[in-house]
Amino acid sequence: MPDKVDVLVAGGGPVGAVLARALREGGLVTVLAESGEPRAAGAAPRGATHPSAETPSRPPFRPPFRPPFRPIALSHGSTVLLGATGVLGALTLTPIRSIHVSQAAGFGRVLIKAQDLGAAALGWVTDLASLADALLHAASDVRIAARVTRWEATADAVRVCLDGGREIDTQLLVLADGGQTSGDDLSVRDYGQAAIVATVCAARPQEGAAWERFTDEGPLALLPFGDRHALVWSVRATRAPSLLAAADATFLADLGRSFGRRLGEFTEVGARVGFPLALRFRRATAVAPRVVAIGNAAQTLHPVAGQGLNLGLRDAFELAALIGRAGSAALARGGIATAFAAQRRADRYASIGITDGLIRAFGIDHPLAAAARGAGLATLDLVPAARRFLARRFVFGLRAIP
Ligand SMILES: Cc1cc2nc3c(=O)[nH]c(=O)nc-3n(C[C@H](O)[C@H](O)[C@H](O)COP(=O)(O)OP(=O)(O)OC[C@H]3O[C@@H](n4cnc5c(N)ncnc54)[C@H](O)[C@@H]3O)c2cc1C
Repeated sequence: MPDKVDVLVAGGGPVGAVLARALREGGLVTVLAESGEPRAAGAAPRGATHPSAETPSRPPFRPPFRPPFRPIALSHGSTVLLGATGVLGALTLTPIRSIHVSQAAGFGRVLIKAQDLGAAALGWVTDLASLADALLHAASDVRIAARVTRWEATADAVRVCLDGGREIDTQLLVLADGGQTSGDDLSVRDYGQAAIVATVCAARPQEGAAWERFTDEGPLALLPFGDRHALVWSVRATRAPSLLAAADATFLADLGRSFGRRLGEFTEVGARVGFPLALRFRRATAVAPRVVAIGNAAQTLHPVAGQGLNLGLRDAFELAALIGRAGSAALARGGIATAFAAQRRADRYASIGITDGLIRAFGIDHPLAAAARGAGLATLDLVPAARRFLARRFVFGLRAIP
């Protein structure tokens, strides 16, 4: 590895890995610093249901009930962006054909269908660990197994220190560390919620519907996942430990009470994992003149509406495109960080505002608020243009790229 590079990416999660690969494709001298190893090839679940090669005759995909297996909803827009990486063919992707949004506290619901956009699917559910492994493999030729321990930005370059004592000078440092580093421009809102993630079976099999039900503790999402449902259930943080430890039958009964009977009885649950939930974002993604943050390092969102990774992937692809347009001479001059921050501002603040706004609006425990929300959902459901707007936002983000 050289001691002077064009771009150093700190963090090889899905967002950092996709950026590093795109920059290397563009001919830039790139290093990806990531100390975690991808799982051994073959550990990822297989059974490809690829957007462009869906095979209905294939036997239904049965996701294992054990972690590390974390369902994640990729918007249709993200699968288009990821198409160029060639990793999708190795993944199992379950289509989301409709999204049903409702509230436990009252009336009103909105149903968004893929047909509203004339698309086959609004998005796809896959396993985050398999996606991350595949992307890290795809960037393996620029990866070094190291952690960034410190960096110092000057007018001409950033000196990056790695564990083991090595130092690399880079024209641009991209923080893609998932929000591991702190900073004095961080805004944090603790929602007092935790998400419980598991796969579940219900009397009614999944038929391509994603369900988002707002309860008094937080949103409860069920996503189609292989032949099961993937659960992302936001509950009060104080209640999460007892739900994680509960006997399966108790857990399933509690889940049924919160979700209702639309899928019939819940019959089986796999291993459960809990995640504390908070909004955490940098007011400026240009951390220093030659340093930018992307993905969760720039903003960690509540998982409601499945926006975090989709937004992070747009960060990565837009940064790669910006650097590609500007060229390595512009990289050497500096200025990429501020241009990127300005370009991404609207999309990231819209995503932060929508996810935070949903949690706050549905968190107001008052009959009048429930009635207003119900009226809002019912109105959205009746107005096709409003449904299309929501669908486009889910699929492509604010800027509707690509
Ligand atoms: C319960 C839950 C459900 C979710 N569901 C969805 C969904 O359906 N759709 C969606 O779009 N998003 C969803 N998200 C959000 C999504 O998981 C994240 O936005 C995404 O995984 C972040 O990816 P990343 O690459 O930015 O960070 P990470 O995946 O956290 O990767 C960061 C990487 O940086 C490395 N690292 C850390 N520090 C250093 C360092 N100093 N030097 C070098 N490397 C370092 C780490 O080893 C790690 O590999 C969900 C989140 C939660 C909690």
